[in-house]
Amino acid sequence: DDGDRHEDIRPQNPVKPMTATEVKVNVSIPEAAHRAAQTGADGVGLLRMEHMILSTGQTPEQYVENHGEDAYVDEIVRGVREVADEFYPRPVRVRTLDAPTDEFRQLEGGENEPHEHNPMLGYRGIRRSLDRPDVFAHELEAFRRLFEMGYDNVEVMFPLVNDAEDVIRARNLMEDAGIDPEKRTWGVMVETPASALAIEGMAEAGIDFASFGTNDLTQYTLAVDRNNENVADRFDELHPAVLELIGKVIQTCREHDVNTSICGQAGSKPEMVRFLVNEGISSISANIDAVRDVQHEVKRVEQKLLLDSVR
Ligand code: PEP
Ligand code: MG
Repeated sequence: DDGDRHEDIRPQNPVKPMTATEVKVNVSIPEAAHRAAQTGADGVGLLRMEHMILSTGQTPEQYVENHGEDAYVDEIVRGVREVADEFYPRPVRVRTLDAPTDEFRQLEGGENEPHEHNPMLGYRGIRRSLDRPDVFAHELEAFRRLFEMGYDNVEVMFPLVNDAEDVIRARNLMEDAGIDPEKRTWGVMVETPASALAIEGMAEAGIDFASFGTNDLTQYTLAVDRNNENVADRFDELHPAVLELIGKVIQTCREHDVNTSICGQAGSKPEMVRFLVNEGISSISANIDAVRDVQHEVKRVEQKLLLDSVR
């Protein structure tokens, strides 16, 4: 049997165009890492930590109670490693926990979650992390161990920040956990209008990157619930108000040497890609199935920009 010899070992995407704007990929679950890496993406723009926790069927607090702090940290380290190994040395941006309480409520231990009328406006993301530094410390400990193990391609991203104060508090907790913010790449999601308006202060607080969470930025800018089908036709990531916020953030970040990126669903849409490349975004992160098209769209826009500049 010479079956092996006929195995197609060419990369799935042999014609990946060279672009100045990086094209990354969103990885929903660690198990998807291999397929994601095959796209030839320049890294992972978003790896959501909550999937590693939600998949245990327990809230973070419950998991720690059942199995202990060490096991909880190990669970996170294992999930991140699966992706970081696959992509090394390409960067992998890992977002700290960001699940709304209604999602946690389905899990073991969920009965202890607060009842909220508007979970999307409530106790989630960096708000919860800053409120429970004891639980957040386990996530940061996972990062510390990963860095110690040599995963210098891992980056830290904080969700749902509103302003420099959120950023400084998160950075201080990172330092408390034994991570040197000067040595590591870390940053924030820009997904509230406040964070877009406060970008200058956040840049001064030392972030290396700002990544647009357009799913939330659109929901909060337009006051359109992203999960409400009655207003789904009003959920428009390309609304001029959303684009104005994004454009201003990119401009300010360029002045402060802060990288910009997008990791919301809109990064997979050609119209958004055209807008972002024209504005000078540093990288675009797309869904696995969209990476290839985004790579080519970025190339087209960059070539046109180049031609226009010499005409
Ligand atoms: C976003 O808000 O665009 C985002 C990527 O985060 P999530 O979808 O997890 O809220
Ligand atoms: Mg979000």
